[in-house]
Amino acid sequence: MTGPDRRSVKRLAIGGLVHETVTFLPQETELAAFEHRAVRGDEIAQAFAGSNTVYGGFLQVCQDNDIAVEGLLVAECAPSGPVAGAAFEAMADELVSRAVLWREEADGLLLHLHGAMVSRGDTDPEYSLLLRLRAILGDDYPIALAMDLHGNVAVEKAMLADVVCGFRRSPHTDMAETGERAAKLLLGKLAGEIKPVTAFARPGLVLPSIFTATEVSPLSDIMAEMRAETEQAGILDITIFTGFAYADVPAIGATVVAIADGDEALAIRTAERLSARLAEAREALYHTAPLYDPEAALHKAAELLADGVRPVVLLEHADRGNDSTHLLEAMLARGANLGRTAVPYLHDPIGATAATSSGVGSQLMLTLGGKSSELAGLPLLYTGYVKFAGPLRYKITGPYRNGETLDLGLSAVIDNGKIAVIVTSVSSSAVDTDPFTQCGLDIDEFDIIALRSKTHFRAAYEPIAGAILIVETPDWGPAELTTLPYRNAPPGVYPITMAPPNDSFEDVFDDGTNNAD
Ligand SMILES: [Zn+2]
Repeated sequence: MTGPDRRSVKRLAIGGLVHETVTFLPQETELAAFEHRAVRGDEIAQAFAGSNTVYGGFLQVCQDNDIAVEGLLVAECAPSGPVAGAAFEAMADELVSRAVLWREEADGLLLHLHGAMVSRGDTDPEYSLLLRLRAILGDDYPIALAMDLHGNVAVEKAMLADVVCGFRRSPHTDMAETGERAAKLLLGKLAGEIKPVTAFARPGLVLPSIFTATEVSPLSDIMAEMRAETEQAGILDITIFTGFAYADVPAIGATVVAIADGDEALAIRTAERLSARLAEAREALYHTAPLYDPEAALHKAAELLADGVRPVVLLEHADRGNDSTHLLEAMLARGANLGRTAVPYLHDPIGATAATSSGVGSQLMLTLGGKSSELAGLPLLYTGYVKFAGPLRYKITGPYRNGETLDLGLSAVIDNGKIAVIVTSVSSSAVDTDPFTQCGLDIDEFDIIALRSKTHFRAAYEPIAGAILIVETPDWGPAELTTLPYRNAPPGVYPITMAPPNDSFEDVFDDGTNNAD
């Protein structure tokens, strides 16, 4: 085969613009949320080398192949409401202008996008970004894309990249591996070793995030089939994207991406076979575990604790703002009839600041949570002692995003003797045991641990949890998707039904001038 070998690749550019957008949340996500964690230029290699992140994977492949790295921009923040239009434009402008600056020196671009970013006024800003990159870098410029398993991967978006790989695991413990897969495929193509051809198939369904755990059957069975298909001769890579149910966009839904070596028919057959498997399993995929309302969950937890099963992990999974109070309200109502309970990472900057001012050892009465939307529950009057207070910044030790630095700003433990609530200034979903060790709490002391995670907690908690109960609350991220007011999702995506017209919900894509309230 002719063409340059890998040694001719001297330098690759690395960048990422990552957000999982919940279009139903009322508050826009401003630039400051991304700037809090933004990394630029040479700092990207320093920040992510050796970490279990996509960038860690990109960097590893570059290091293994003696390829220099040019860091562009990495901007990410936790899932939240639609990205403000100006915020997205500012980040896209910077990424594009940095890419142009290095166009001659860098032999290609390794890019991380989520797949479910939405900005005010644009249902697919990632597509817009890739169009801009193609317009300015050229159609032949090599671009590899690493995306999140929860991406809504529009075919026209994915086709703008030479290579598309996504996480195959949720919890996403394979982030670095995914970065490596994408980078290796691009290198192989640049060296003329392989000729990646990509096929897409869409099964016409979207999964609630709580049912996207890839080690839970029947999704685990289909993922195993995918891995077996990846081993067949001629197949280079396969990803099953489950889609993201809380971004109401035309591209909503699952996508199977199969990459074959020069054999387009094989890629199509493989993608369609796996897509058909998903479609035929859709009922079962949608009902993998029972759902409890808060009262029922606490009742069940009490039974389990009486049988010696502990700790019981409760998932207030429908909370998309990390500040819902439905479960905490039920816990407070239960009073003394509740085991020792931890509520790690309730987003409440005012509460965290007040607790820090009040100081460790002081008693404090405050209202907690319930501020992110009208479905987040009422702010709750809560009285407790401050057990820990101050800035909370640490390197993640759990399997998910291992090695990355997490900065939660001013944070505090407020403990009423029964319930220890950890409040943070930066929204983050607790997924591992770091909240306990970082705040001086002994996890073994707790009977009940109330999380807001969907699947990522499983990597750290499955080995230690006595039981896991899914708590369904009337919030913006429910398992029961038919309760949500979809407007932009196309017909035929199971199980979504279109919202009735003239309902009272604001449409995220309005320009803001004609919103009913
Ligand atoms: Zn994800």
